[in-house]
Amino acid sequence: DNKQIEKVQEMVVDVITLLRPQAKLKNIDILFEQTGSQTVYCDRSQIKQVLINIVKNAIEAMEEPGNIQLNVLTSEDSILLDVIDGGPGIPEEIIHKLKEPFFTTKQSGTGLGLMITTQILERHDGKLEILQNENKGSTFRIILPKQIEAK
Ligand code: ADP
Ligand code: MG
Repeated sequence: DNKQIEKVQEMVVDVITLLRPQAKLKNIDILFEQTGSQTVYCDRSQIKQVLINIVKNAIEAMEEPGNIQLNVLTSEDSILLDVIDGGPGIPEEIIHKLKEPFFTTKQSGTGLGLMITTQILERHDGKLEILQNENKGSTFRIILPKQIEAK
């Protein structure tokens, strides 16, 4: 187990730096305002993998130029990490299948990204929520406990 106290904003910036070139190819901007300095007790590379999976999906979902917005929020006992895309959204009839292994709507998708994401978050006592935006697209919300003791 490789868990340590990590700065959420640092992990987000690392992932944005990694994926911005791929987004730029589709004229997509990844927006993130670095305010606050929340920490979580986590495996840094695993939580970065979660973010990579979700932001990549967001880039792939967007059909036209636009923005992907990342926000870090806090509730009483959780850190919420929102990835908000301007894609087509998710049809109601498939939303419950997204976390199943091998479920993909892509020509050459593996359908493993969100399953692995869910597994990693469960190992952190967290979870993934999938929300429909009011106007356009979807929000993938990573929820992690604010502070957990070493196990
Ligand atoms: P893959 O990306 O290989 O298809 P994932 O597990 O990452 O596998 O995603 C599963 C499916 O969930 C995708 O094929 C797509 O249908 C849907 N999906 C994931 N993210 C989004 C998104 N941001 N907007 C719309 N659909 C999405
Ligand atoms: Mg994927």
